[in-house]
Amino acid sequence: MLILKAVGALSVIGVITSTILATAAKRFYVEVDPRVEAVAAALPGSNCGACGNPSCFMSAEKMVSGELEPNACVAGGQSVTDAVAAILGADTCDAIAMISARHCGGGDRAVRAYEYAGVRSCAAANRLAGGPLACSAGCLGYGDCVRACPFDAIHLDERGLPVVDPAKCTGCGICVKECPRGQITLLEMVPESAPVVVRCNAHDKVKARKANCSACCIACRKCERECPADAIHVIDMLAVVDYTKCTGCGTCVEVCPQDCIDLYGRAAAVDTMAADGRGGGAITNVTGKRIEAGA
Ligand code: SF4
Ligand code: SF4
Repeated sequence: MLILKAVGALSVIGVITSTILATAAKRFYVEVDPRVEAVAAALPGSNCGACGNPSCFMSAEKMVSGELEPNACVAGGQSVTDAVAAILGADTCDAIAMISARHCGGGDRAVRAYEYAGVRSCAAANRLAGGPLACSAGCLGYGDCVRACPFDAIHLDERGLPVVDPAKCTGCGICVKECPRGQITLLEMVPESAPVVVRCNAHDKVKARKANCSACCIACRKCERECPADAIHVIDMLAVVDYTKCTGCGTCVEVCPQDCIDLYGRAAAVDTMAADGRGGGAITNVTGKRIEAGA
């Protein structure tokens, strides 16, 4: 008898609850523009936040409402931009194409100021007197960027340096935000067509820099003098590439006595990437000359 009463009571509660829910669902129903669903399905679904929104669905809503352009999804590239524009019936536009680049070639060539034995995390190490490296701009090498990348596009190599795979990097920029030295552009988003990258980000005096790392830029200006396109200059004692001028001829890679400029990126000119994906490779420069480079 007691069991029957309990079952009856539960059934009544169930009926009342479902009636309330059904009424609420009808009353508060908000019609969703079917294009939002379609745009959301066209986006990568990684919720990486590179467009400034916490989810791909929210980006889809803003694209449909016109708050975001069809090319706002940095991670999606041209195919997603085209797909979104087609759904919205808008003219397509060029995708924002960027990839992450590391401005440090230190790794096992960087001098350690002390032995760090704490949690294997760049953020944790950085909090302990700026980390174990003598160079305050160098890569700490505990792989916070590797763990943060939602596209499995970064790996640590045998030197303890994060290597970005240009073929997998979507340009979402999460690694730059995660890197405790991201603000000082150790990791930086560069145009995907960037043919070279300077592997140093130190701004201290050259003498101190040399004592801290044997892979540093020594501000000798050889790259600046030899560049036929006037695309690389030593600014604040550090070589900086102007990607609006760089033609990818590879002269700077060849002449740098420190080997701190690498061929890079998805540039059409870089026709053979190193087999280990470390970003080195070969390039045919404007005169038809082949230049081989390490990572
Ligand atoms: S790039 Fe930054 S986050 Fe990545 S390993 Fe180096 S210091 Fe750590
Ligand atoms: S040639 Fe190399 S070491 Fe000299 S300034 Fe250019 S990047 Fe630095």
